[in-house]
Amino acid sequence: MTTLTFDSLNPATGEIVGSHPKQTPDAVHEAVGRAQEAAAWWAALGHAERRRRLLDYKAVLAQHLKELAELVHQETGKPVGDATLELVLTLTHLDWAARNAQKVLGRRRVATGMIGLNLAATLEYLPLGVVAVIGPWNYPVFTPMGSIAYALAAGNAIVFKPSELTPGVGVRLAELFAESVPEHPVLQTVTGLGETGAALAADPRVKKVAFTGSTATAKRVMAACAENLTPIVAECGGKDAFIVDDDADLGAAADACLWGAMANAGQTCVGVERVYVVDAVYESFMRELSGRVSKVKAGEQYGPITMPGQVEIIKRHIDDATKAGKVITGGPGSVRAPYVDPVIVEDVPEDSPAVREETFGPTITVRRTRDAQEALSLANASSYGLGGTIFSRNARRATELARLMRSGMTAINSVISFAGVPSLPFGGIDDSGFGRIHGADGLREFARSKAIARQRFALPGMNLTSFNRGPAELERLVRLVTFLHGRRKR
Ligand code: NDP
Repeated sequence: MTTLTFDSLNPATGEIVGSHPKQTPDAVHEAVGRAQEAAAWWAALGHAERRRRLLDYKAVLAQHLKELAELVHQETGKPVGDATLELVLTLTHLDWAARNAQKVLGRRRVATGMIGLNLAATLEYLPLGVVAVIGPWNYPVFTPMGSIAYALAAGNAIVFKPSELTPGVGVRLAELFAESVPEHPVLQTVTGLGETGAALAADPRVKKVAFTGSTATAKRVMAACAENLTPIVAECGGKDAFIVDDDADLGAAADACLWGAMANAGQTCVGVERVYVVDAVYESFMRELSGRVSKVKAGEQYGPITMPGQVEIIKRHIDDATKAGKVITGGPGSVRAPYVDPVIVEDVPEDSPAVREETFGPTITVRRTRDAQEALSLANASSYGLGGTIFSRNARRATELARLMRSGMTAINSVISFAGVPSLPFGGIDDSGFGRIHGADGLREFARSKAIARQRFALPGMNLTSFNRGPAELERLVRLVTFLHGRRKR
């Protein structure tokens, strides 16, 4: 039987970058079967050997950095420089996950408390088994590796389904892994379209699904996982806000805002989409922004829209925003598929699609607010809650605002900086999903806690978990508990 294939295309030129099999549900199930055996072997290697192998994988990836960056460039259309940055960030995460897994997940003693005085308690985090990673195309290395690196370090085997737009990068990540771990297929890539991902998520031997993509697809994946009670991590879209307070460095804020919104053609889940500027500095900030945006061009500083279907959504948002608001830069004519030039529109109503829905393009809406408090209220009035940014010279005030921002991550006086700090967890709330990748939380996301309590000696006259327990033992317990917990402090 011949296997059907599909092509990955260079979105800038339409040229074929590679041809890959559309793996059938049977092929996916075979991969999961192989992963199950590989998972047992990988788990038994232990933390120290896994760390050694993962650091070796990091070195292999670093040695192939240029080749991988070129492939990311071809499949997504993003500039090679941006692809290189994506790979560098990936390496720092892989390094952190490998080096910290034992410390975060390894076996440790925990306190037992007075009533458990005769017990020794230990806690450790064990691997889940097979983890399925379903990834998007916008950061085809950094995003899936945010799950893959941490899940591998936690001792799991991975079956990875890359986006149909970036299969070549996914295949290469697994091929290079086999250079460091040749014995068993601990990291496998299965290629195909949505059905391939659906077959993977529905396999009952998969112990967790790490999904990154749109909120709509996350719901479908979750429904499939419900059949087997398979837990999922859902890293979905966002509508991140950027707040400029009255004491901000406006030049730095405009620079960061522009990059956060337009880099990667705005196809960044934590990209800037809504900008709220405090009245006192509004005009000055807009001057800084307009001065800078004239130098940013699609096809030069950033690439094309990778997914052809997204152009229609971006166009709809721009049409709607420019009708209702005041255009600062660009407009409907900025869409010249596959490229979209920067678009900045102010005073767009807060209930319009351009403000409410994820655009995933190089566009922003800007609104003047009375003060930072109003900016925060508008920022928080979103069904999404992924990232966000605050610009202010007052560190205390900015941190206070950041804590009140309803999102998983907030950057202060920089954009997206949290994603580059491996020890910080990454993930959202509400429509942006749940669960965390990166950091200690990201390691624990792919592990199950194992609790052990061992009785070291029997407490004389205090055998509470026995049918031989008498009234005197209960009385002693009540006296002890009253002594320990019965004093009120006013
Ligand atoms: P999609 O939701 O379209 O697809 C994501 C992945 O799911 C792809 O690999 C896709 O495969 C696969 N898939 C599609 N249908 C199913 C199904 N029924 N069952 C299982 N898998 C399926 O998202 P995009 O690829 O378009 O990515 C863009 C979205 O991802 C944006 O909304 C963005 O905000 C979000 N994102 C979130 C990030 C985060 O960390 N929070 C990071 C990066 C992006 P195929 O491509 O073959 O259809």
